[in-house]
Amino acid sequence: MSAMTFRPRLAAAASTAETRAGRPQQAPLFPSAPLMRQPFAPLPAGSIKASGWLLRQLQIQAKGLSGHLDEFWPIVGPDSGWSGGSGESWEDGPYFLDGLVPLAWQLDSPELKAKAMRFMDWTLDHPWENGMFGPRSNDDWWPRMVMLKVLTQYHELTGDHRVILLMTRYFHYQLQALPGRPLRDWGRMRWQDQLVSILWLYQRTNDAALLELARLLKRQGYDWQSMFARFPFTQKTDADALRKQAGGSDAFMQDLGLQVHGVNVAQALKASPVWSVVSGSAADRDAVRHQLQMLDTYHGLPNGMFSADEHLAGRSPSQGTELCTVVETMYSLEVALAITGDAALGDRLERIAFNALPGALTDDMWAHQYNQQPNQVECSLHRQPWTTDGPESNLFGLEPNFRCCTANFHQGWPKFANSLWMATAEQGLAAMSYAPCTVTTVVRSVPVIIEQVSDYPFRQSVSMTIRPHHAITFPLQLRIPGWSKGTRIAVNGMPVEVTAGFTTIERRWEAGDTVEMVFTAEVKIESGYNGALSFSRGSLVYALPINENWVIWRKRGPTNDWQVYPGSRWNIGIKPDTSVDVSEHAVGEIPFAGASAAVRLTVRGRYVPAWKASEGVAEPVPAAAEPSADEGEQSIILVPYAGAKLRITAFPILG
Ligand SMILES: [Zn+2]
Repeated sequence: MSAMTFRPRLAAAASTAETRAGRPQQAPLFPSAPLMRQPFAPLPAGSIKASGWLLRQLQIQAKGLSGHLDEFWPIVGPDSGWSGGSGESWEDGPYFLDGLVPLAWQLDSPELKAKAMRFMDWTLDHPWENGMFGPRSNDDWWPRMVMLKVLTQYHELTGDHRVILLMTRYFHYQLQALPGRPLRDWGRMRWQDQLVSILWLYQRTNDAALLELARLLKRQGYDWQSMFARFPFTQKTDADALRKQAGGSDAFMQDLGLQVHGVNVAQALKASPVWSVVSGSAADRDAVRHQLQMLDTYHGLPNGMFSADEHLAGRSPSQGTELCTVVETMYSLEVALAITGDAALGDRLERIAFNALPGALTDDMWAHQYNQQPNQVECSLHRQPWTTDGPESNLFGLEPNFRCCTANFHQGWPKFANSLWMATAEQGLAAMSYAPCTVTTVVRSVPVIIEQVSDYPFRQSVSMTIRPHHAITFPLQLRIPGWSKGTRIAVNGMPVEVTAGFTTIERRWEAGDTVEMVFTAEVKIESGYNGALSFSRGSLVYALPINENWVIWRKRGPTNDWQVYPGSRWNIGIKPDTSVDVSEHAVGEIPFAGASAAVRLTVRGRYVPAWKASEGVAEPVPAAAEPSADEGEQSIILVPYAGAKLRITAFPILG
């Protein structure tokens, strides 16, 4: 396409983007001295619009619980304390908004924006006289840490000047109030989330008091980095184990319980990188790698997550992971990826986003699980095998076990979409994760649009068209997934050299230039708990789908609480040298639906009669499985993990 035909289209595109985002595209901001230089920075919310399958996923989310929760769930309904009512006034309102705000603007939905504005207007118009904000029925620092995340996104989307004023007054108030009323419980464990908002404001106001507040939070907050350096939690941490670790003291849940709480640990993955922006220490910045390594080694699961049901629960694939832990791990990785520039964190983020996130929700996103299990053979009322969670934990429903995930899961997809691309310190752009989208931003003062077309992760190619307003030189950085050996990249059809981690293409970009990426995704057979085999290909994990019988346990307004019972046998073992055939199918309207699985793996396995379920839970995978004497080897079809709500993901090795 020539520049002549291009210009009118750009004008149209820019004005559409402006309307959608509510404000002109802004240049991204980077921390500057005295803060540490970082390789990437998030583009302001509103810069990236999902398209293709990711847009469909966001639309499904809006048609599901996210778009309707406030209509029938009183916790975030008209009586919420965060919109001036006398109802729930703690974390749930901010949790809900942390996903509703980016979702509403992603979809440019007047209805969803109006729903969000009820809370935003009340919060922004009703600060306390002393600088505090939020419901007056509590002064807990923690729910405000969540609301600050909402305010920063909302400001990027709208430019609402009330945000900067409110945040500035609040942080000054907190600076003088914290010595007398220090961080406690949740706020003490999750201080790093507030640090993100403090640094966000500092980049806009250069107010030195904010760095003082950052240091005070660090002093009062829990020292995650030291804990992970000695990591004493190498076993399932149920109440008995923690009591033992606390020397028999019954006060163990107060402190030890918070240290091994899954959501805390998920949020803590950003602690060291975010603090490094203030401390300037590379050791702080890189500590997240060790943290992940400890979690993988002692609590890692094949879906990319660690077990926490809701405390760290060891490596058995029958243990669960809470949905809040999934979305908070994703957000921590998005933050950490920008600060560290470690491409492996992008691999991890994709593995969680494309497996564990959709795995915990029904296809229509009207019901979710509190805990999901890699080996999940029944969703029914049972107390086992959770460390501390209750019997509803793996039901699909409105608020199984506890209501936090009902309010908090909404942030998963919209924030993932908003972090697909980032700005680079060299004033270029970087593709951090892959999914179809359009980026509208400013590079070196020149408006640039990038259209990215792809069915990744269901396919292994990504096509980009670069459309600068006029030709401009800048570096384009592309994350190369660690699993892709032999990645090919071509610019306007000409191959370019690929380097591990990030490949940088610095050139003069002209309107209509194309970048084609083709990844090589071999089937990978990974060995986990008791040597159990798990299958992945690219960023998708594969599982054996078990026939599902969905039974309504109780009606919950427009949705239901469901139990799901198995309708087929699942106790199958596999030899490590199994043949694997891959077949690709169309990506369906519901991208992760098992009924229209976009990729299927066919492997060979045999029944293992001795491997059974007890009380609805698959027994831990046996180390050496004795195959059935009566039945021979057979073909087993695996589908992407999230498409199998009852599934086996970790298979015993046939002896
Ligand atoms: Zn939760």
